[in-house]
Amino acid sequence: MADQRPVTTTDAGIPAASDEHSLTAGPDGPILLQDHYLIQKMAQFNRERVPERVVHAKGGGAHGFFEAVAGAEQWCRADFLRRGRRTPVFARFSTVAGELGSADSARDPRGFALKFYTDEGNYDLVGNNTPVFFVRDPQKFQDFIHSQKRRADTHLRDNNMQWDFWTLSPESAHQVTWLMGDRGTPQSWRHMNGYSSHTYLWQNAGGERFWVKYHFKTEQGIRCFTDLEARAMAAEDPDCHIRDLHTAIAEGDHPVWTLSVQIMPFEAAADYRFNPFDLTKVWPHGDYPLLPVGRLVLDRNPADYFAEVEQSAFEPANMVPGIGPSPDKMLLGRLFSYPDTHRHRIGTNYLQLPINQPRVPVHSYNRDGALRHHNPPDPVYAPNSFGGPRADPAAMEPGWSVTGEIVRAAYTRRRDDDDFVQSGTLVRTVLDGAARDRLVGNIGRHLQGGVVEPVLSRALEYWYKVDADLGARVAAEFGRSVPAAASGAVPTGARGPR
Ligand code: NDP
Repeated sequence: MADQRPVTTTDAGIPAASDEHSLTAGPDGPILLQDHYLIQKMAQFNRERVPERVVHAKGGGAHGFFEAVAGAEQWCRADFLRRGRRTPVFARFSTVAGELGSADSARDPRGFALKFYTDEGNYDLVGNNTPVFFVRDPQKFQDFIHSQKRRADTHLRDNNMQWDFWTLSPESAHQVTWLMGDRGTPQSWRHMNGYSSHTYLWQNAGGERFWVKYHFKTEQGIRCFTDLEARAMAAEDPDCHIRDLHTAIAEGDHPVWTLSVQIMPFEAAADYRFNPFDLTKVWPHGDYPLLPVGRLVLDRNPADYFAEVEQSAFEPANMVPGIGPSPDKMLLGRLFSYPDTHRHRIGTNYLQLPINQPRVPVHSYNRDGALRHHNPPDPVYAPNSFGGPRADPAAMEPGWSVTGEIVRAAYTRRRDDDDFVQSGTLVRTVLDGAARDRLVGNIGRHLQGGVVEPVLSRALEYWYKVDADLGARVAAEFGRSVPAAASGAVPTGARGPR
């Protein structure tokens, strides 16, 4: 039977004469420069990698859909949030600090990025599996990431550097408590929640505005590795999370998350007891309960990892009509930094790649640039007299009024704002005794991984400020009593598992 396989071609579609032999002057002679097929193979191979993401480099993703089961039209006019609407979605999960080949099970927050291909353009939600973050001003983000990455001299990661930054940045305490707890090592991406973390602004069809936080709660249940299990898994299967998601979807076991939101009336933000835009704080559920909106289902694996996962580009600046940013300084910084990194990493025209392309027609006046696939037709400018697209004032993003001197300053302090109060609540009222024991062990092992004075003493003081009993137990791991510097009012509230 004749061989039915297609003939190999060059990338220009020209049939190739051999997959094995280079063009040479006689079987034993030198390779000839006119072997264009060989040169194209070598040159293309040399250029196979785009720069990896500086953060969130290691990840995986899947396609699926979002269904607005309960809907949110009473708070938001975005079309995809209307009750019953179903919107295609691409999700990418990741670790933060490790490089492309690093272990999925590392103790780290996890990225939880979603791209909704809505009928009003792409809506991107670039969340994490934690509701808070280490810093609250983008001025500190680059320094924070440097402290988690590699030293300049040895090219090694360095726990001392990490704890140095954290303990000099007390606003990190909530996120570090979370990270050192069970949820810092999820068993799989399917078994963790996703949070917008940031506060956004919603506006309904009547013009009313609401502040909102998103919570995607896993329907698979929360499952975490212990510290030792996570370390063992890093050796056994560094790609365990990519494998888990791919296998589950391939077997028809489609993971589901329920989207609920916390809604704060616009005016209530002014005198809320915590600054509602401070990314290191949650809104306690007792103040703002979770209200169900819809469900996210992932049901299709990518067919081409590089094209769909590696080149996927999420940007929180992609907000559809009815959704706007809040005065969260980290969010405002990210609105710039995400598209900027995509332009550098993938190229100016990253939005024309199939994974990033909206499912609706694009009518912008932007044009040209490297690797542009197609341009809008004439006219190439606005305003024009030749029928080119025109902007619609109805698409105006919701906003808020701003006054004040131009300053470089921390957020104005609210009644209950304190860098340690919510981490203390997490330790005392959310974690049970066994989870607190594991927290002490995890912190101790992390600190024993090379943390030296004066950082070590500062770290013991830091945990004492989170919770006096926890601080004393961490100090005891180092044969010390209560840190000398930790005096004054320190929380030791009532305990109890929940
Ligand atoms: P609640 O008791 O209403 O909520 C506690 C939350 O803690 C639940 O959402 C739960 O998530 C989550 N949680 C449970 N175990 C852990 C863990 N090991 N590590 C991290 N989070 C865990 O209390 P409040 O809303 O008053 O918040 C109390 C504290 O809970 C906060 O200070 C914050 O640290 C933490 N938290 C609060 C969230 C919020 O948005 N209010 C969200 C997540 C954490 P689940 O239901 O999925 O199990």
